[in-house]
Amino acid sequence: MKLGDIFCQDRAVNTLTRAFETGRLAHAYIFDGIDGIGRFTTAKAFARLLLCKSPEIATLSRNGTPRNDKTPCTGQGAKQADSCGKCESCRMLDADNHPDFHHIYKELIQFSSDPTNRKKQPIDLPIDVIREFLIEKIQIRPSLSASKVFVISESEKLNAASQNALLKVLEEPPNKSFIILLCSKLDNLLPTTRSRSQIVHFGPLSEEKIIEKMPEVSQTEARYLARLTNGSLGQAQILSKLEPSFYSVKKEFLDRFSALQIADTVDFAQWINTTAGKLTESWLKLKAGASKSDLGRTAKKMFVLSLISAFSDAMKVSFAGGEKITNFDQSQQVKSIVQKFGQLGSADLIETCYETIRFIDASVNEKLVFEHLLLTCLNYGIIKV
Ligand SMILES: [Zn+2]
Repeated sequence: MKLGDIFCQDRAVNTLTRAFETGRLAHAYIFDGIDGIGRFTTAKAFARLLLCKSPEIATLSRNGTPRNDKTPCTGQGAKQADSCGKCESCRMLDADNHPDFHHIYKELIQFSSDPTNRKKQPIDLPIDVIREFLIEKIQIRPSLSASKVFVISESEKLNAASQNALLKVLEEPPNKSFIILLCSKLDNLLPTTRSRSQIVHFGPLSEEKIIEKMPEVSQTEARYLARLTNGSLGQAQILSKLEPSFYSVKKEFLDRFSALQIADTVDFAQWINTTAGKLTESWLKLKAGASKSDLGRTAKKMFVLSLISAFSDAMKVSFAGGEKITNFDQSQQVKSIVQKFGQLGSADLIETCYETIRFIDASVNEKLVFEHLLLTCLNYGIIKV
């Protein structure tokens, strides 16, 4: 894909093309933003430009006429520097076969030359992956293009050892290489990593743009998913493709939660775990190569995030009359939550939900985590048994 075809990230794309046109490229970039808003697609399109053998040159005047950054979401960038799409380099990149383009992600550990490493299932991005697939490979001269590009996914999972190992190559990448870190939690990166890189921010997409891009589902479903994912088209699209559909799952989830009685807790927790398992299997089919345990945690966290959205809605309904609530399609259930938990209860239980997410991330009592969460809600003392 060309940079000019990136959807709704004109500001980030303009930053990159302007750096290319003026010859002020950084060695290392951090693409900061939530998952599913086009950071990897943009990194690949930028790599296509950096590696291209005959890039197109901007036709706009550079004589003091600034590019208009405030014309967002055209889907088509203004005429600007871009890859040609025709040379050998562009064709090989499009075929995922470019010898000078390297995608670094934690599951690469399965392809390590060390058999001991291949058995590991890391939660963070381990130093072994960084050493073998980045630091070793960056020393080798490019074989097709004039430079090499390394894109690191989930760089928020780089542990301190991995980041320290990266410092030298970030400062001065050998062989005219470029390193792009995709990051959804900037705070997880060490100040030394951040200071050696140029940060490019990627913003969320508007609700209407997400609805426009999801014609295969109802507007109600697309609007709900846009709000739940905080404007992540990629996440909204993948949730809509799961089987069972995440939207139907969340409707049943909220129906049952809003009418929850203590006698139902064990059954309901079991249903959540079973349904999360089904979502995980479906998710795996859509995301080949992803870690099953990671997706399992993500599926479970989606239930907690749905609950957080319901409690947040309950607070909004209490304070501001309920404008723009996420669960606008289940306003009765939201009202029922307001009656049962009130504003303060909802606020406290949002904290409990975030604690549950930390438990899930740490794989603590995975089977009991929902039972614990539901009982905490019930024990809050407001639900009448
Ligand atoms: Zn080209």
